[in-house]
Amino acid sequence: MIIDVHRHLIVKGTVQGSYIRGAQKSFVMMYNKARNTSYSPHDFTEKIIRPQIDPTADNIIEEMDAAGVDKTVIFPVDYGLLFGEAPIHAFDQNKLYAEVAKRHENRLIAFMAIDPRRPGALKHCEQAYHEWGMKGFKLHAGVGYMPDDPCCYWVYEKATEWGIPVMCHTGGAPNSTPALRWECSRPAYFASAAARFPETDFIFAHCGDIGWWQEAIQAAVWLPNVYVDLSLWQKPYIKWPKKRFYQWLRDIIDLAGADKIMFATDALYPNLMCPLADWVQAFKNPETDFEFSDAEIDLILGGTAQKILGLQG
Ligand SMILES: [Zn+2]
Repeated sequence: MIIDVHRHLIVKGTVQGSYIRGAQKSFVMMYNKARNTSYSPHDFTEKIIRPQIDPTADNIIEEMDAAGVDKTVIFPVDYGLLFGEAPIHAFDQNKLYAEVAKRHENRLIAFMAIDPRRPGALKHCEQAYHEWGMKGFKLHAGVGYMPDDPCCYWVYEKATEWGIPVMCHTGGAPNSTPALRWECSRPAYFASAAARFPETDFIFAHCGDIGWWQEAIQAAVWLPNVYVDLSLWQKPYIKWPKKRFYQWLRDIIDLAGADKIMFATDALYPNLMCPLADWVQAFKNPETDFEFSDAEIDLILGGTAQKILGLQG
């Protein structure tokens, strides 16, 4: 089974204007560098992003079918306390994701994005879990809290009680006004939280990103409840010599174990640079002299995620 554990829907009204204006400068720069194009931020948004808007996620299912991906975990990001509320309130965004997951019941799994400091957050999450069937938390601490701050403890406690994982953004962030705080997304701070809550499963999204991957892997090596996802690593995959990428993959498997590593995309943006089917093939049919056992590849592509998501069988 192939599972993408990290993806976002492209839906109007889910992202604040102040975030888009800054972030699109970062994203168009990355896209242009990866594809050797020269889109302006405006053209990038109009020509590349806008056609991807689909509140039903039917386009995602099509893309998954073509690439052989069985299931995908989807979630919004709760930026509201930093940038101001998006046209669709954060709580309603979670509901929208839950409804889309219901529309594609055997294919999509929805996590709830929450800023733990939000008034009414616990009550909302109880409803999202019990009534809407949401299967995990998503934290983006870059909006301004430290992951090991007591304001987050209720999330970790509920995740333990409900037996669901906490997806944590670790790594960089684009331009924005006000600025996202990079230091809050360092794996070390999430590791401190994971050490304090050993019964809670933590997924370090983006495996710490290109700057902090060693810190993320260090946490996965030391802490039985820390996992990493490989979203955003499409760029090193397409830009580095293959030998270097697969040396890196071999290293993180040897250090942390394939049972700590999960296939992921962070679509949409990374899929524009490296199509989903190519990213799957990077693991299924690695073009390299480095050796990867079938068992290791099976774990990374879906086995590890099956265990974390409680999808045994
Ligand atoms: Zn993401």
